[in-house]
Amino acid sequence: MATLRAIHDDITRLALDAIVNAANSSLLGGGGVDGAIHRAAGPDLVRECRLLGGCRTGEAKITDGYRLPARKIIHTVGPVWRGGMHGEPGLLASCYRNSLRLAQVHELCSVAFPCISTGVYGYPAEAAAAIAVAAVRDALKEPGQVEQVVFCCYSAGDLAIYERLL
Ligand code: ADP
Repeated sequence: MATLRAIHDDITRLALDAIVNAANSSLLGGGGVDGAIHRAAGPDLVRECRLLGGCRTGEAKITDGYRLPARKIIHTVGPVWRGGMHGEPGLLASCYRNSLRLAQVHELCSVAFPCISTGVYGYPAEAAAAIAVAAVRDALKEPGQVEQVVFCCYSAGDLAIYERLL
């Protein structure tokens, strides 16, 4: 069984097999963690992203990590919070499930997630964390390469939420 842990860090600093980006559907960069990842990876990242044709909400695509210490970047598009009755929980769970599926296909052993959708997209942090942990636990029941999943929290408040859940 893979290990799950939560840390308080900047995801662009993590030297894992892959980090996950909370991207927007254009995959061409944005604010928040997406902007930080593009800045740290350098301009070759957006060049590769332009070839991917965007990404739908709940789905995921993979690129190289370029100047990041992480080898690969898995880009997923979280749902915008619109009150919770517009399929947001299922779409958020899909982000985690599809990201881990890509990690398994690419034989990546260690993956870090940011708190997808909880920034500009407005998903309540506690509800999002509960979905993240449940979706990851569920996905890791299937046999595969992933041994280590890190929830990379950018705030002490998010870290406290994950520590309670794990
Ligand atoms: P979204 O549009 O999916 O809401 P945001 O980037 O606005 O994405 O926020 C998602 C989460 O990423 C938030 O919890 C935010 O605090 C966090 N975040 C922002 N920058 C970083 C970073 N460098 N490393 C890790 N997490 C980050």
